[in-house]
Amino acid sequence: MSLYITTPIYYVNARPHLGHAYTTIVADTYSRFRRLCKEDVRFQTGTDEHGDKIAEAARAAGIPPKEYADRISKLFREAWPPLNIEPDTFIRTTDTHHIRTVQNILQKVHDQGDIYLGSYSGLYCRGCERFLTEKELVDGNCPDHQAAPQPISESNYFFRMSRYQEWLIDHINKNPDFITPERYKNEVLSFLSEPLEDLCISRPKSRLDWGISLPFDADFVTYVWFDALINYLSGIGYPDDEEFSHYWGVAEHIIAKDILKPHAIYWPTMLRAIGLAPFKRLHVHGYWNINEAKMSKSIGNVVRPETLCQDFGVDTVRYFLMREMSFGLDASFSDESIIARRNSDLANDLGNLFSRALTMINKFAKGTVPAPADPEPPDRELAAAATDMVASYTDHMKTFAFNRALQEVWSVISLANRYIVTSEPWVLAKAPAKTTRLQTVLYHLAETLRLIGLVLLPVMPETSMKMATALGMPPEAFKKHNLIDHGGWGLTQPGAKIELGASLFPRLDKENPQKPAAPQTQEKQTVSAVPPAAAGDAGLISFDDFKNLDLRVAEIKAAEKIDRSDRLLKLTVLAPEERTVVAGIAEYYQPQELVGRQVILVANLKPAKLMGVTSHGMILAARDENGRLTLSAFADSATPGSKVS
Ligand SMILES: [Zn+2]
Repeated sequence: MSLYITTPIYYVNARPHLGHAYTTIVADTYSRFRRLCKEDVRFQTGTDEHGDKIAEAARAAGIPPKEYADRISKLFREAWPPLNIEPDTFIRTTDTHHIRTVQNILQKVHDQGDIYLGSYSGLYCRGCERFLTEKELVDGNCPDHQAAPQPISESNYFFRMSRYQEWLIDHINKNPDFITPERYKNEVLSFLSEPLEDLCISRPKSRLDWGISLPFDADFVTYVWFDALINYLSGIGYPDDEEFSHYWGVAEHIIAKDILKPHAIYWPTMLRAIGLAPFKRLHVHGYWNINEAKMSKSIGNVVRPETLCQDFGVDTVRYFLMREMSFGLDASFSDESIIARRNSDLANDLGNLFSRALTMINKFAKGTVPAPADPEPPDRELAAAATDMVASYTDHMKTFAFNRALQEVWSVISLANRYIVTSEPWVLAKAPAKTTRLQTVLYHLAETLRLIGLVLLPVMPETSMKMATALGMPPEAFKKHNLIDHGGWGLTQPGAKIELGASLFPRLDKENPQKPAAPQTQEKQTVSAVPPAAAGDAGLISFDDFKNLDLRVAEIKAAEKIDRSDRLLKLTVLAPEERTVVAGIAEYYQPQELVGRQVILVANLKPAKLMGVTSHGMILAARDENGRLTLSAFADSATPGSKVS
């Protein structure tokens, strides 16, 4: 099967920000995923470079528009490799072949009578580069630009979009996956319940000359959408190239919700007029809010992809964006939330599992993956969970439920961590009679990690490659692996030589994300079922290590939500002195139900600042395989401040 995946071409009036990075990472992840399913994928992105905003920006910079467009387009092109985004094509609307394609299409649509000269008077928003209808205005202003549009009247060319309205409604109804998620399909259908107006597709050169000239009237340039949308065709060589006939029928566009109307209404009707089949699917995502506020230049909270990569590392950024946003809905970005994901999901869950398993294979099996004997029930449970995960992961990835796909992977990671605890390889290693049992356990860990590494490839290519190499797979061979041939259980070859390397995800410090944190800082709010890996001793700690922990009975006197955080509560506890502790339990406990409870406090943790509140210690809770939290408690009432040992 083949697939053609596109991002929008980004308008070169601004530098790349988090929103662009998200759309493009989604497209890259989805492309890599479909390739992992052995499909033939073409992935295209690029830049949109015509229009009056560009002409104006160029004037302000004192350079010709093309030079200005070159400058910004380069920023986009160079933004993607550091994020491990690998498009097959980067198209620009100033490319000669694109200009030629737009003109050919205009001529064709004009010749068949679908473009006519009319007079247009309306309210024009410079920010949107289009005329707005009265209905769209909020208090007389463009809702996107908070400015009043200017009334203008001029001769212009129109595309007979209205002619295709009934066809479009019918097509959307007959193809339920045409626009997803469903809420956006409903939005489009609701818009189409009103008569569709024809689309103004030109600008007089007297007002704007930075654009593609209309082939049938040299006094006009093409309106930016009729120019920009055609990139999806010119990028694959419409009409004559073999690539075009190969890929057009399988086109899937990925966009943010602000450009829903041009993609869901203008574009399919344009294609209909050109005589082409519509694209196959349109995937629409929501916005990233920054610390709960809309990202905007005027607030000064624009997040740049290059800064993110420097601060957190490329795979943490990719993982966070795919895990945190439910595709289609808005999501919230903050440094705290990305650090929390990094430290809990990546460093603690995945990184810990990986380093413990490899350390044990190294120590107990001389660094080679041993052959398994007959599996016992816990082994079968792990193997079944891992292979089931591959199937459910695949289903979720296909429907753009990236967060759910990753949840499936993480539930296997949790299970594997518990499997280590219950099978106790370090105990088996001490009993010669248990050698085959030990080998079976180690094999099951290696094979589970192989499958985890394989499914993580689309989201975290570097990490996945590191895992494969450490598990003894040559990179060249691993690059050819796929879910069809390698997604089943039992493909790890006994005897494979593992390679101990650096930790996959060193924990990050909240104050200085770039610097790996000292071990055991505040971020981990809960105790997992798995003790941290201690170098060389397969997870066992000495009694002296344990004595270093100052565990105490703490009584909660007050609890309140922390502004801007869905996860954190600020607790005032007695232990026996009064202190403030921040706990990541807000999704599971209401503040009022906590007062009076007694919990276990780690009293000698270094203080750490979370969302502006300094936490003096950490309270203990259990997290089950579904992520559900339960606070620690005492069966009988205890005296606050008593030592727990
Ligand atoms: Zn506007």
